[in-house]
Amino acid sequence: MSLVEKKSITEEFVLFDKMSEHEQVVFCNDPATGLRAIIAIHDTTLGPALGGCRMQPYNSLDEALEDALRLSKGMSYKCAASDVDFGGGKAVIIGDPRTDKSPELFRAFGQFVDSLGGRFYTGTDMGTTMDDFIHAMKETNRIVGVPEAYGGGGDSSIPTAMGVLYGIKATNRMLFGKDGLSGVTYAIQGLGKVGYKVAEGLLEEGADLFVTDINEESLHAIQEKAKTTSGSVTVVASDDIYSQEADIFVPCAFGGVVNDDTIKQFKVKAIAGSANNQLLTEDHGRQLSEKGILHAPDYIINSGGLIQVADELYGVNKERVLAKTKHIYDSILEVYQQAELDRVTTMEAANKMCEKRMADRGRRNSFYTSSMKPKWDIRN
Ligand code: NAD
Repeated sequence: MSLVEKKSITEEFVLFDKMSEHEQVVFCNDPATGLRAIIAIHDTTLGPALGGCRMQPYNSLDEALEDALRLSKGMSYKCAASDVDFGGGKAVIIGDPRTDKSPELFRAFGQFVDSLGGRFYTGTDMGTTMDDFIHAMKETNRIVGVPEAYGGGGDSSIPTAMGVLYGIKATNRMLFGKDGLSGVTYAIQGLGKVGYKVAEGLLEEGADLFVTDINEESLHAIQEKAKTTSGSVTVVASDDIYSQEADIFVPCAFGGVVNDDTIKQFKVKAIAGSANNQLLTEDHGRQLSEKGILHAPDYIINSGGLIQVADELYGVNKERVLAKTKHIYDSILEVYQQAELDRVTTMEAANKMCEKRMADRGRRNSFYTSSMKPKWDIRN
């Protein structure tokens, strides 16, 4: 074998090494529209892969691939935790969302999604909007999270916020032996689509809040809301939210909020909020646990939106979505109790619970094929 041949084989294996336990990676190339996308399917033992589609001006193919692989794996765990009949997938489109979008590009993307015959369902994520997917929907019916006008469930931040409130109830059960939300103080970071609704829900139960946001309007709105309830709101500066003398920190703005700098400042007993990827590294989860701070794993407590999107394929029914979202209480409590029993972090306990769900089902199913039409997809 020549050196050149050996090199190309080695390079091929590098790609497979990167794929690790992922089932499939699809490279989508359409020169006519400029579409360059990667669809990563991590695991379909629980059902077809589900995950949003990002659009970002990645600097290299490697960077785009890493993102697709990492995010699709995260979706497998999130789907397993929420007990929806989906596996994990994610798509990334390489391009600048401000300048590189066109209806034709999203139609081409829709054709690639359709070519997978139902192994992958997708929708909006960072850099993409529902307007983009309305073009993709002309080519495939595997788009989820669509507006009510197009037969979808509408604003997913409503079940997400509801799920966070159930997760906080489970946290109060674990910390104080009670389910209610009142009599506990909360420090909320971010009053956006999710955080504002969580704050409203807490105020309606008479809770006392410390809040921060960089948007003055949201701060004013929640202060006005507090006047109509028996709860209270104290506004604090952005950087001061971590050191508040509150019982629970509720991060609802951005990821990486549990890091070397903030861990030193926390005086809370627990962290339970909607932000994705709250732990900067796994080790920060260990540090929280050493400090005796309970942490609700983000991908479980914020899964209400995913539950709604997955439920869309049974036909829209808000009551059913909210009933399913209540299970977040049980999942969070199960994780807390398991972590205590096994003396591991709550994130480690959550990951183990999801891996067990996938392994148990894997004994009955192999991976998902396009001929296994999901009976629950009314659009089939
Ligand atoms: P959003 O953009 O509507 O809200 C974020 C809020 O954080 C905004 O009000 C913003 O002004 C505020 N903010 C930004 N920087 C801040 C800072 N330095 N200090 C204080 N506040 C700051 O987003 P969202 O949809 O409410 O999502 C919030 C978090 O929850 C994100 O991490 C998101 O990924 C995650 N999440 C959201 C959903 C959903 O259904 N929307 C589902 C799962 C996870």
